Amino acid sequence: MNETTDRFRLDGDVVVVTGGGSGIGKTLAAAYAGVGATVIITDANEEAAESAAAEVGHGATAVAIDVTNEASVTDGFARIADEHGKLDVLFNNAGVNRRVKTTELTMADWQLVIAVNMTGSMLAARAAAAIMFTGGGGRIVNTASALGLSGGWYPNLAYQAAKGAVVNMTRSLAVEWGPQNVRVNAIAPSLVRTPFIKALTDQPDQVKFFEGLSPLGRIGDVEDMIGPVIFLSSRASDFVTGHILLVDGGLMAS
Ligand code: ADP
Repeated sequence: MNETTDRFRLDGDVVVVTGGGSGIGKTLAAAYAGVGATVIITDANEEAAESAAAEVGHGATAVAIDVTNEASVTDGFARIADEHGKLDVLFNNAGVNRRVKTTELTMADWQLVIAVNMTGSMLAARAAAAIMFTGGGGRIVNTASALGLSGGWYPNLAYQAAKGAVVNMTRSLAVEWGPQNVRVNAIAPSLVRTPFIKALTDQPDQVKFFEGLSPLGRIGDVEDMIGPVIFLSSRASDFVTGHILLVDGGLMAS
């Protein structure tokens, strides 16, 4: 064992991933298991959570949690606390997007995107922190977005508003919960190839456009999220809180 790489391990830690049934959440669930954590995959889509848990293995389990529903969040986290007795890490990642021009944005779409990305992040963080306080602390990693830090490259108002809120909630909760030893940070990815943006990555001209914007000349892969999220979830980042870590191939630098 090596003292430096040991800092990135999560042996014995209990980790909850929201929106873990697919994409970034599922990839990170496997990565957490790979560094020794006991992983609980939660998702509004129960079937997706179950099959992700089976795929991840290493004792990963699934709990159906709809992050927009306060009772579902409260019950789900109560079950997790009962079963595991503690919570060390929350990867607060459930998300949806509705990419339309603002003049065509329906109230239903606005409310859904705000409910999942903004309110859902708050509900999951609040439930997780309550368990973390009883165990002397923990780490929360929110999935923000480069679109929460910029006006973006196409009309996507609800998502940008919600992710902007995630950015500032990250700072706010870091300040509020620092004294209880709960660190709160976020990753801010640009485009990442997942089912989430399949409609876009299926269009070669769109792919070319986004590759052209990126100093590294490519769209992100889910695997690009592993190092940054594990870093923020582990002892390797013990003195880092309230930080928004761009994982965008340099897009925002340009
Ligand atoms: P990404 O990997 O970019 O986060 P995905 O669409 O692949 O995008 O994954 C998002 C996950 O969030 C999906 O598994 C989806 O079921 C989940 N999700 C969407 N809405 C909710 C919700 N209300 N509560 C919990 N999970 C949700």
